Amino acid sequence: MITQPTYVLAFDFGGTKLAAGLVDISSGSISNLIRLPAPAEEGADACLQAMVKAGNTILQTCVIPRGNIQGIGISFGGIISDDRHTVVKSMHVKDWNNFPLPDRITDHFGIPAFMENDGNAAALGEWAFGAGRDTRDMLYVQISTGVGAGLVLSGKLYRGQGMAGEFGHVTVDPDGPPCACGKTGCIESLVSGWALKKYTLEAYQNADTGSPLYRLGSANPTQIDARLLIQAYQEGDVAAASIIDRGFNALGMGICNAVSLLDPQMVVLGGGVTRNWDALVPAVEECLQRFLMPGSRQRVRLAHSILDGSETLLGAAMLTTDFARP
Ligand SMILES: [Zn+2]
Repeated sequence: MITQPTYVLAFDFGGTKLAAGLVDISSGSISNLIRLPAPAEEGADACLQAMVKAGNTILQTCVIPRGNIQGIGISFGGIISDDRHTVVKSMHVKDWNNFPLPDRITDHFGIPAFMENDGNAAALGEWAFGAGRDTRDMLYVQISTGVGAGLVLSGKLYRGQGMAGEFGHVTVDPDGPPCACGKTGCIESLVSGWALKKYTLEAYQNADTGSPLYRLGSANPTQIDARLLIQAYQEGDVAAASIIDRGFNALGMGICNAVSLLDPQMVVLGGGVTRNWDALVPAVEECLQRFLMPGSRQRVRLAHSILDGSETLLGAAMLTTDFARP
């Protein structure tokens, strides 16, 4: 790992939110952190200007001389090109297609910039500074609005031809529900934040008036989502348990297939849906026991992210290192 203080300007552009900060990649400490809504509605140029403004503010207010900034790392929540030089598509910013974001950032700051998708960046952050920091081989799965993932193999971010880690779109039920990608029965279509919200709303509309789901939903009609689902599940709601069982069964099946293929030392789960870890870990554990080959459960550790949302920004900073190079 890196032993001397080494500073990187890091950006986490998630589509609707932007975070930026100065990261010391020898320690994983973040300073001069800025979080703001991304002006996605105003288009690509406004988003670029928001990043430039945040970066300028950090460089002007931090105590590190500009010449000591080693590089710039960008995590992008969308599809990027295999060579990582171009944003192919953003789901949130309508005209941000085929946009050379890192080159534009490099041109502005005069510091080399590197980009990666958010699943890969978060995996690298969790591996370098979080739950996976003592491993060589690790699978990271982030369950938030969508399901993102990334692989660190032999101590390096693994990209395949550029699209490795599309764990959310692994098919686990050919007859399953439609997914945002156009297929059916993907892991994301069963356990992502958007999917759990959809099934919770459907269950709430058909819920018995005496059920925990009905009571919680009636008290929070505008917040019927994955968080409320997990609360109802903890209170013994039958419909909520059915949604959780189906979702986490799909997730567990996907994890077990990946573990059988790759034999990693650790699988780390993160993202907003996993925040109530204690409530969910029995469902995940049950699947691991069920779907892994007999006797192989003890070969892989299951862990919860310990970085509480900062793994993506930290991973963006690590894109400037050899750990992110092929
Ligand atoms: Zn899909």
